[in-house]
Amino acid sequence: MENQSLKNKLYERIDELTPRMIEMRRYLHQHPELSFHEKMTGKYIADYYKDMDVKVETNYGDGYGVVVTIDSGKPGKTVALRADFDGLPVQEDTGLPFKSENDGVMHACGHDGHTAYMLTLARALYELRNEWSGVIKIIHQPAEEIPPGGANGMVKAGVLEGVDYVLGAHGMAPLEFGTIGCTVGPVMTGRQSFKMDIHGKGGHGSEPQMANDANVAASFFVIAAQTIVSRRVNPFHRCSLTIGDYEGKSSFNVIKETVHLEGELRFMNNEDQPIMEKYFKKLVKGLEVMFDVKVDLDYITDYPVLNNDEELTHKVEKSLKNSGIKEIKKVDTAYQNSASEDFAYFSNEIPGVFIFYGEMPDDGVWYPQHSNKFLLNEKALPLAAKAVGAAALDLLSENE
Ligand code: MN
Repeated sequence: MENQSLKNKLYERIDELTPRMIEMRRYLHQHPELSFHEKMTGKYIADYYKDMDVKVETNYGDGYGVVVTIDSGKPGKTVALRADFDGLPVQEDTGLPFKSENDGVMHACGHDGHTAYMLTLARALYELRNEWSGVIKIIHQPAEEIPPGGANGMVKAGVLEGVDYVLGAHGMAPLEFGTIGCTVGPVMTGRQSFKMDIHGKGGHGSEPQMANDANVAASFFVIAAQTIVSRRVNPFHRCSLTIGDYEGKSSFNVIKETVHLEGELRFMNNEDQPIMEKYFKKLVKGLEVMFDVKVDLDYITDYPVLNNDEELTHKVEKSLKNSGIKEIKKVDTAYQNSASEDFAYFSNEIPGVFIFYGEMPDDGVWYPQHSNKFLLNEKALPLAAKAVGAAALDLLSENE
């Protein structure tokens, strides 16, 4: 393939830039910021492009988004590449020499790695811009971790106007280095969450007839809600319901007046969202009737299912398999993840693909994303840059 020599140049350049990439990743790791508060990170990203002749737009969307347009000056496709850059409210406990300096904030999902590989890839693509056609748009997205998320605001501000394809990648600690997940269809779940207060009537433990026990009603609800998954959703569709918080603490001889519940429902088919919501709300109404309680419910639907476009995913899969990237050992076309991602807002608008790259440490000891001990394998960052770069170059060369 003619494209191969260009790709080889890209890989070489990424290898040369890798020490700087690792430095950037560690700097970002040391200075994480929470979603919608990533002012310093946004500036760091924008400053990086100062010596390049590219269009840089800052404060894009509802937060500190940075959008960089690399124009080859030749007609062709426009491909957007997205990397997120927010941290999490987690107290780091990794013992890394470059651990977070911001108390209670940590890059525990690896978005520092996403940003570092994307900055590096952007520079390599920029330097080679005379050798490809079309436009590369780099979307540095803030606030992935907290609804409503940074993606939706960027879409509304027009970031996808004129864009043909959007690609994103997430490192995954449980996935071995050298493995890439590239799967057609739903790859991450849609999400809804709820908070509810069940109000009964407080009283003495020995006189239940004088009171109305919110704990009994809440306990009933915890079990009843599971029937949404087991009885209401098509068994061929996957979904889950978790009640993550049950604030029912009182004393052994006290009947509690109010119990607070919080939880979430996830789904892999967008059509199941209204079904889950409808039956959840029916159960709440039923609870009020059955137990004579009053329920205050706050029900929130946020990120939709992340669906990978079929045709584009096959193209990217082929790119990865024929990329000549020696570090890629396996392309897993069945990999899915049950978390949720606001990249879904991009891929709901135009054909998009979200791939996963293995970033498990070499010793095989890994901690899940969002853990206070989360570690990533830095060897995965040049691999990610090359993989996403190869796919982008193949898409740009489609009509040549
Ligand atoms: Mn993440």
